[in-house]
Amino acid sequence: MLPKRDSWAEPYKIKMVELLKMTTPEQRKKALTEAGYNTFLLKSEDVYIDLLTDSGTSAMSDEQWSGMMRGDEAYAGSKNYYNLENAVSEVYGYQYLVPTHQGRGAENILSQIMIKPGDIVPGNMYFTTTRLHQELSGGIFHDVIIDEAHDPESEYQFKGNIDLNKVEKLVQEYGVEKIPYICVAVTVNLAGGQPVSMQNLKELRKYTEEKGIKIMLDMTRIAENAYFIQQHEEGYRLKTIAEIVKEICSYTDGATFSGKKDALVNIGGFLALNDWDKFEEARNLVVVYEGLHTYGGLAGRDMEAMAIGIYESVQDAHMKARIGQVIYLGNKMKEFGIPIVKPIGGHGIFVDAKQFLPHISQDDFPAQTLAAEIYLDAGIRTMERGIVSAGRKATGENYYPKLELVRFTIPRRVYTQAHMDVIAESTARVYERRNDIKGLKMVYEPKYLRFFQAKFEKL
Ligand SMILES: *Cc1c(COP(=O)(O)O)cnc(C)c1O
Repeated sequence: MLPKRDSWAEPYKIKMVELLKMTTPEQRKKALTEAGYNTFLLKSEDVYIDLLTDSGTSAMSDEQWSGMMRGDEAYAGSKNYYNLENAVSEVYGYQYLVPTHQGRGAENILSQIMIKPGDIVPGNMYFTTTRLHQELSGGIFHDVIIDEAHDPESEYQFKGNIDLNKVEKLVQEYGVEKIPYICVAVTVNLAGGQPVSMQNLKELRKYTEEKGIKIMLDMTRIAENAYFIQQHEEGYRLKTIAEIVKEICSYTDGATFSGKKDALVNIGGFLALNDWDKFEEARNLVVVYEGLHTYGGLAGRDMEAMAIGIYESVQDAHMKARIGQVIYLGNKMKEFGIPIVKPIGGHGIFVDAKQFLPHISQDDFPAQTLAAEIYLDAGIRTMERGIVSAGRKATGENYYPKLELVRFTIPRRVYTQAHMDVIAESTARVYERRNDIKGLKMVYEPKYLRFFQAKFEKL
């Protein structure tokens, strides 16, 4: 009997390749020292497999490249803007669109039009740029994600869920008038690409409607979230990703979006709203920071590629291959005994540096150290998501996040199964020599989003 075909094999073939430079261990050592042990400061040329981020690193389709050629580079009223507006309303169901150069441009505008100084902004775990914009508008972020999200060993399927008791506690303590909206991320990046269930969204919607609190979605990886709902939530097995995506949006009042993830483009984002008055305010403000409201910092061609990418992102076969590849890598790492965050999330594998390097204290940057060691082994670039990324509070104290992770983010449609094998094998080699690895000390610390530019030396 033939086995049932359940491979995640890609629904595309390769038309063009980009050649990579292969480096020696000596070259990598030199590159890493020059980069101050910060993988953000490596030259991409010195990297073999780049898993720094899945942001803006995806491979565009031939259709998207064709769209680039149809760019209507008018200052005002570009036809590509209207194509994007159609895509956003057809796929997500939002009425009003403000394009921005990327997600954080939308976060800036949303924060400015919604948040007053002293306001409380609950969210299911923070995201770096999102929280910073909330804080710059005078808001105070409060984490309302369920406790399981902070436990890398918990196999709970929807670790992105919001704990309604935590929301209720904030309402009791501060009153609804202090809460302009709840920011809901799908999937939750810093928790390891963990999804939110539809059930949880429905309950949150019911609760917030009663209280008169709005829900703003950070829907950067909404199609990936929809895949997990389709696979694991009762009642959704026969629904398409497209149907699930639209249902998620229907429980919210607006969204910020980074096109650089789900939407398979190198640059782009938007703010989507259903309220006309808020849209008017946002449209006024976008001119200050991004550009006229029909281009928002994007070229016409970029808006076209994003519009096409939005449709491609909700194809079932695409998402099966996308997440199938991530799960393949995760299972391979598990076989080697490497401690990873469970369950495997949507956009990458998150290695638990606290478990990997238990002898390195959080003040000596275990995740930063591990990312550096992984680069040394085979030229694979990953990213720290721990104490360096968490930064400092307004008071100057360090945040001490519970999770100390190294993120292996998988760009969409870029690497092959053999690349996944190399990644797992290289990480296993580092794991074998883990006891000899020493921590780092920070020798330069930037004021904002320090993880991007901080420099380190070996202890
Ligand atoms: C990337 C990202 C953003 C910000 O988007 P940019 O396009 O990088 O500005 C916001 N939220 C989440 C969850 C993200 O992953």
